[in-house]
Amino acid sequence: MATDKNAAEKEYTVEEKLSTLYQLQTMMTEIDKIKTLRGELPLEVQDLEDEIAGLETRLYNYQADIKDYEGAVVEQKNKITDSTALIERYKSQLDNVRNNREFDNLSKEIEFQGLEMEFSEKKIREFTEAIARKNEEIAQLTEILDGRKADLVQKRGELEEIVSETKQEEEKLREKAKKLESMVESRLLTAFKRIRKGARNGLAVVYIQRDACGGCFNKIPPQKQMDIKLRKKIIVCEYCGRIMIDPELAGVEE
Ligand SMILES: [Zn+2]
Repeated sequence: MATDKNAAEKEYTVEEKLSTLYQLQTMMTEIDKIKTLRGELPLEVQDLEDEIAGLETRLYNYQADIKDYEGAVVEQKNKITDSTALIERYKSQLDNVRNNREFDNLSKEIEFQGLEMEFSEKKIREFTEAIARKNEEIAQLTEILDGRKADLVQKRGELEEIVSETKQEEEKLREKAKKLESMVESRLLTAFKRIRKGARNGLAVVYIQRDACGGCFNKIPPQKQMDIKLRKKIIVCEYCGRIMIDPELAGVEE
C-alpha cells in the first residue's frame, strides 16, 4: 500500500495536535506583540508631523500679520507726508488771504491736518508695538517648533530601527507559524482561528489553572479535568469555547 507523506492527512495524535496549536498560538502572540510595538510609533510620528504642520501654519500667519502691519505703517507714513505737504501749502496760502473767512478756513484745514498727523503717529506706534509682540511670539513658536522637529527626527529614527529589526523577527515567526499550520487539519485550524479572533486576549488554547479554565476562569469539573489530562479528545470550555489543555502540555508547572 502506497503512503503519501505529503498529504495533510498524516495522522497526528490529539496530543500532538494540541501541542502544535499551543505552539502556533505562542507564535501568533509574538507577532501580535511586534505589531503592537510598531503600532504606537507610527502614530506618534504622525502626531508630531501634524503638530509641526500646525505650528508652521501659525508661524506663517504671524509673519503675514507682520507684513500687514508693516504695510499699514507705510500707509500712515505716506499720510503724514501728504499732511505735511498740505500744511506747508496752506501756510504759504495764509500769506495771501483776502478775507477773514479764507483765513479761518485755512487755519481749520491746518489744524485738521495736524490732528490727522497725530492720529497717524498714534497708529504707527500701535502697529510697531504689535509687530514687536508678534516677533516675540514668533521667537517662542520657533523654539517650540525646533524642539518638535528634533523629536520627530528621533521618533522617525526609532521607528525605522524597529521596523528593520522586527521585520526579520516577524518573518521568522511567520515562517514557523506557517509550518505549524500545515500540521493542523484545516477544520481544526479554522476553528482555532475563529476562537482566537473572538477571544479578548487572543488565546484560543488555554491550560487549566487552579481547577478552572485559563481563559474565562470558570471551574472545570474533576471528570473533565481528567479527560483533558488524558489528551485523547479535543475538549473545549463550555463557557467560553476555548480549547483546554493541561498545564504540562503547555510547558507550565502547576
Ligand atoms: Zn473558559
